[in-house]
Formats: sequence, C-alpha cells, structure tokens
Amino acid sequence: MPIYRAPVDDYRFVLHDLLELEKQRDLPKFADLSPDLIDDILTNAAKFCEEVLQPINQSGDEEGCYFENGVVRTPKGFKEAYEAYRQAGWGGLAAPAEFGGAGMPIILSMAVSEMATAANQSFAMYPGLTLAAYSALVRSGAPWMREHIVPKLIEGEWAGTMCLTEPGCGTDLRLMKTRAVEQPDGTYRMNGTKIFISGGDQDLTANIIHLVIAKVPDENGRILDDLSTVNFFMVPKFLVGEDGAMGARNGATVGGIEKKMGIKGQATCVLNFDEAVAWRLGPKPTPPKPGEKRSASAGMAGMFAMMNSARLGVGVQGVAIGDVAYQNAMAYVHERRAGQALTGPAEPGKSADLLIVHPDVKRMLLHCRSFVEGARAVTMWTTLNMSIARSSRPEAETAGYLADLMTPVIKAFFTDMGFEAANLAMQCYGGHGYIRENGVEQFVRDGRINQLYEGANGVQAMDLVGRKLGRKGGVAPMALFATVGGWLAENEDAALAPFAGPVKRGLDALQQATMWLAQHGIANPNDAGAAAADYLRLMGIVVVGWMWARMAKVAQAKLAANPPNAPFYKDKLTSAKYWMERLIPECPMLLERISAGSGTIMELN
Ligand SMILES: Cc1cc2nc3c(=O)[nH]c(=O)nc-3n(C[C@H](O)[C@H](O)[C@H](O)COP(=O)(O)OP(=O)(O)OC[C@H]3O[C@@H](n4cnc5c(N)ncnc54)[C@H](O)[C@@H]3O)c2cc1C
Repeated sequence: MPIYRAPVDDYRFVLHDLLELEKQRDLPKFADLSPDLIDDILTNAAKFCEEVLQPINQSGDEEGCYFENGVVRTPKGFKEAYEAYRQAGWGGLAAPAEFGGAGMPIILSMAVSEMATAANQSFAMYPGLTLAAYSALVRSGAPWMREHIVPKLIEGEWAGTMCLTEPGCGTDLRLMKTRAVEQPDGTYRMNGTKIFISGGDQDLTANIIHLVIAKVPDENGRILDDLSTVNFFMVPKFLVGEDGAMGARNGATVGGIEKKMGIKGQATCVLNFDEAVAWRLGPKPTPPKPGEKRSASAGMAGMFAMMNSARLGVGVQGVAIGDVAYQNAMAYVHERRAGQALTGPAEPGKSADLLIVHPDVKRMLLHCRSFVEGARAVTMWTTLNMSIARSSRPEAETAGYLADLMTPVIKAFFTDMGFEAANLAMQCYGGHGYIRENGVEQFVRDGRINQLYEGANGVQAMDLVGRKLGRKGGVAPMALFATVGGWLAENEDAALAPFAGPVKRGLDALQQATMWLAQHGIANPNDAGAAAADYLRLMGIVVVGWMWARMAKVAQAKLAANPPNAPFYKDKLTSAKYWMERLIPECPMLLERISAGSGTIMELN
C-alpha cells in the first residue's frame, strides 16, 4: 500500500524560518496568523489528508468514475470524504470572511492544497475548481450571485467548474463554437459543447456552477472568428433565482465521461449546452465606434484571473505528485535488497544490501527531494508576493511583477519536474514500480496531466517569453535579476560560496539568454518560440537554486545553534548542494541551446 506523510516540518521551516511569516503580520489577512495558528492548520490538514484522503486514492484509481443513465458517480468513499472535507471547512480556508470563509491568506490554502493533492489528486481537484469558481464570482459576479451563490460554493454545498475547451479548440480559443444570445430579460441562452471539463458532473454536491466562455453575436448578429466577442458566463446545473432558491434543471447536461490515463477518480466530462440559461459576468461590452478596435469584454479579465490562480494550483500539483512519489520510493529502497555497496557490503551478514546504498539510487532520490523542497519554497515565496502585491508596502508593485513572472514557470517547470520525479521514483522500484498494486505507477499517470491542462507547458513557455518578459519594458525580469542579484551581493561570505557561486553562474546565463531573446526574438519570432521551453526551464532552475541558497543560509545558522533536530538541517544542505552540482550545470547548456536559434528546428516540414 502506498504511504503519505504530509510535510508539516518542511512547511514550518519554509513559513517560519525562511519566509518569516511572523514579520509579515502587516499584510492583508496576516494579522491573526500566529505561529500557533499556522501550526494548528498545518497539523489538522495533514491529519485529514493522511487519514481521510490518502486511503481512498488507490481504490479511487482502480474503480474510477461511472456514467450511468445520465448521472456521474464518483468512486467509493469520495462522497463521505467530501462531506468530511466540507464539514471541516477546508474549502473556505482562504475565502473572504464576509462570504463565510475563514479569511486566511492564500499561502496557507496553497500549503493545504499541496497536501490534499499528494494524498489524492483526483479528489483534491473537485474543491480546487470550486475555489477558482467562487474567486471569479467574487470578482465579476452580480451582487445576488455574491450574496447567494458564493457562500454556497465556499461552504462546499455547491461546486464549480471552468469550461473553456471544446472539441475543436483548447489552446486556440478563437476557434470556439459555443455561443450565447442575449434575451429580453438580460439573461442569455447558450448552445454548444465543452469537453474535458474537470468535475463537470459528480455526486458530491447538490448543484454545480459552471463558469463558461462563449461567443456572443456582435451588433450585426455575426459570430466573429477572433476573441473580441468572447464573454464569460455563469451557467448553473440547476437554475438559481436571484433570491438564491434552486429551481429546475438547466439545459447543461453531461454527454459522457472520458476514459483516461490517470486521475481516474476525477470525472472529466463532456458538457452539452442546449438553450442553457446563462448569466454574463462583468459589465456588458460596448460595441466599438466606427474605426475603433473592439475592446475585450471586462468579464474576460475575471476569466484570466481565474486561470492565473488555477495555473499556480496546477504547479502545486506537480510538487505534490513529486513528493508523494519520492516518499514511497524512499520507503521502498529501505526495504528491498539487491547488490552490495560499491565500497564493500554495508551489511555483511545479509544476502544483499538495501537499495539505498547505491549511488545511482541516491541520485534519483535526491533529484526528487531537491526539486520538491526547492519548488515548495518558491511556490510559498510567490504566494507571499501575491499578498505583498495587494498591500500598501513600497515593494508591492515589484512583488506583483515577480508573482506574475513566476506563474508560468511554476505551472510548467514544476509539473515537468513533478513528472520527472514520479518517473524516477518508479525507477527506484525496478519492475515492481510497473505493477499496479505497488501504487507508484499511479503517480506517473496522475502527474502526467499536470503538464497538459490549464495551458500546455509549451504554451506557458510562450506566455513567459512572448508576454511576461517584454511587458512594460521588461520590468518583471529586471525585478527578478535585481532581487536575486541583490541577495547574492549581500551574501558574499565564504560559508555560502558553494551555494551563491553556482546561483551567480546560473543568473549570468539567464541574463545572457534574456538579452539574446531581446535581440533576436522580435526580429524572428521563431527564435523566441524555439527558445521558449529551454528559457522557462533555465529560469526555473535559477530561481529554485536561489531559494536553495537562501535555505542553506538558514540551515547553516540553525546548525551553528546546535538544534535538537540537526539531521533535518543537514539534509537541507545536502539537497541544496545537489541542486548546485546537478541542476545548475544545465544553465550554460540551456543558454547554448537557446542561442542556437530556430534555423534547424524550422527545417522540419
Ligand atoms: C483530464 C483533463 C482535464 C481537463 N480539464 C479541463 C477543464 O476543467 N476545463 C477546460 O476548459 N479544459 C480542461 N482540459 C483541457 C485542457 O486544458 C486542454 O486539453 C489543453 O489546454 C490543451 O488543449 P488541446 O488539448 O486542444 O491541445 P491543442 O491546443 O490542440 O495543442 C496540442 C499541443 O500543441 C502545442 N501547441 C498548441 N498551440 C500552441 C502554441 N500557440 N504555441 C506553442 N505550442 C502550441 C502544445 O504543445 C499542445 O500541447 C482538460 C484536459 C484533460 C485531458
């Protein structure tokens, strides 16, 4: 049976020792965040994830979801676990208090989300999508939706979905066919088909609030083939009156569920909209004046905000899958015997040594651990920056740029590395890793989707290179270089040199790559496109490396104070050194690949 221990000690280290949350109490929502309260939340979440969610992860994968007589059923135990999740109030942890949430900062809900995903990714996605939905309604919904629908979503009585993808369009939303036509009463009637909708139906909640994008006819009744008439809508499964009362079944029905590689406990649905009643979110777009370009609908801003927070959530899924896979591999290599240590048997009286003695096995495990703990720290730093961005601190603007820059990096690099980690964990099991009942192959299958949905990773890289780098004259990358460079300048002491030195080399490569892109990417967009994935990985390696250097500094100080849990800090230094020795050397190689340009790549017909 697979195991999972939620990383409470590591979260204590990141939140208290590294990011010093006690010093952040001036930030919005941080005032009540005492160390005891943080500890309480982390330990209770850990207990819930270990005792309620993890035990139904493997069985949920085996059983999967069913679609019978137009109704979706989740695997055995999901309903009870969902009810317990709801009763404990986990879904509303970071929701605004005025709508019934606990009003905690997002940094804590991200931590809980990592634990829940590691315990059971299929399950965690149901409330995860609801969080994205209520956040969008808080931002863009009408007052009656905020009054009656948002509290039900936060409380978990109802759930939410995000409906963008169609049979003919995923990445390229211009190709969307779903349309919505305004009615005299101000509502819309929607027709079309959305596919691959996570949590599109389930048997966990009384109602589902679908957040859907669709095209509306322009002022001449035409459906345009660009994005200018795309609007953002709320379409409930059961109609909801403006007084909050639930009514008849709406014309949004499930056409089926997908049979898929992983996350089998998560219902991925085809949704058919057949004259479904829809409410537009955000103010009504005004038609352009003659000669003017049509401006994007204001409701679309709500959708982009929803997708941005969802992208961070998917990055966290990469970290979570990497961690649970690593934990299981670590346990296995302490049980299984094969071969002997290269320097002579570690246990001469035994038939063979444990797998953990082999350098190559240790390499695989350290690869996973240095990724998971480094990525966790970067995610927490980024969510802290999101809170700083909403504060009145002088550094608020810079924090916003940094969070914005990190979003595609977290989504793509962490899900690539999470999959890499799951695959290496499976390798530690040998052939036994390929066998279903041992459980580790589920993490490979579950973790694979994270690289695909919420914008495929190649598209994230294009977002980084094509949009984020150049915005406002490159203010975001400059903020990153100044932040990392500033830290390196302040930490030039000899004890930190084994960490700061490699990070400096990585940063130099990143700055050169950025310069190369600035010089070539505009003149030849294919150069930018061909470099994008390597550039994103380069930035990810440097930022995680910098976070490891910061964590090494904290660990060194703790070790000097001779703490009772010294092995924890020694392990931190080992993982930090691994990143410097094994990942940072990729930076000059990535720079070379980026600078090779797009010539050869574009020769492929
Ligand atoms: C299990 C599952 C759950 C999902 N959940 C949801 C959901 O809840 N809601 C929802 O709306 N959607 C959902 N999706 C859909 C998912 O977000 C899309 O599949 C994804 O965005 C990619 O779109 P596509 O499959 O149409 O690929 P395409 O757009 O056809 O792209 C195929 C590949 O081409 C490349 N590519 C495409 N365009 C570009 C470009 N401009 N630049 C560079 N490379 C490019 C990428 O490598 C991409 O992987 C889900 C999908 C799955 C499988």
